[in-house]
Amino acid sequence: MKLCDLHTHTVASDGSDSPYELISLAKDIGLSAIAITDHDTTDGILEGKEAAREVGLEFIPGVELSVNYPYGNMHILGYFIDIEIPRFKNVLKRVQQARANRNPRIIEKLNQLGFSITIEELEEISQGGQIGRPHFARLMVEKGIVRSVEEAFEYYLKKGAKAYAPKSILEPKEAIDVIKEAKGVPVLAHPFSLQIKEEKKLKDAIKVLKEQGLLGIECYYSEHDKTFTDLCLNIAKELDLIVTGGSDYHGKAKPKIKLGIGKGNLQIPYSCVEALKAKANV
Ligand code: AMP
Ligand code: ZN
Ligand code: FE
Ligand code: FE
Repeated sequence: MKLCDLHTHTVASDGSDSPYELISLAKDIGLSAIAITDHDTTDGILEGKEAAREVGLEFIPGVELSVNYPYGNMHILGYFIDIEIPRFKNVLKRVQQARANRNPRIIEKLNQLGFSITIEELEEISQGGQIGRPHFARLMVEKGIVRSVEEAFEYYLKKGAKAYAPKSILEPKEAIDVIKEAKGVPVLAHPFSLQIKEEKKLKDAIKVLKEQGLLGIECYYSEHDKTFTDLCLNIAKELDLIVTGGSDYHGKAKPKIKLGIGKGNLQIPYSCVEALKAKANV
């Protein structure tokens, strides 16, 4: 069976692999296609594309945009984007600026809590990529402030926690629109993170996104159990949305998640790529 992984991060955002390393790994483990979907940046795409061409692997340029949402966290993935479209580039710049503006606010909150954290330390850990909360978490582990990345999120970094500061400036519809302007296919990432437990409510929430132009749902995902995956597959079928899947690989930044297989038993059929291609007209 041909398999793929359509959700991965590199050093361009909060992953630990370079695009080249990620593509080489994807080839080694026998995937048939891979997408790079860094948070709010396409800085890893050109290197990824070139590496994929070198090793003979099908490559899909992608992005993962954070958007405002009252519950949980909402991320919208974009596939087969044209990274040179000026309006898309401008929106990314705005979002990156919002991210940069957030960092000093988180630092200030952590400083007020008595923890010494500087922007220089974060820049070192992020290796020039977009700084995200996982970098804060890793630094806090290194400094012995917390025992694990999970603990850093739980006590300090997650939405509503002591050092949390919001960053998203995009509404879901704006993210969907700008992905489409870049000729991309917008897909709802990891629906579990919306934290809507009831099937009917989740379906209604996704229906609103579909009316705004959403084309797919990431049903296969590392944190989705069989029941939740089936629920997502049902919603996709009922709403006539395409099905995608990805591990959300971050390399050493999230060591429990392995490329292609997530926590061990994830399998993302290549039919997801075909469905995306049909929507993207490529
Ligand atoms: P940011 O881009 O700064 O909003 O951070 C988003 C990243 O933080 C994503 O890679 C998430 O997987 C990660 N993340 C969010 N919540 C948690 C959590 N509770 N534990 C570990 N990682 C998390
Ligand atoms: Zn991430
Ligand atoms: Fe995400
Ligand atoms: Fe992700």
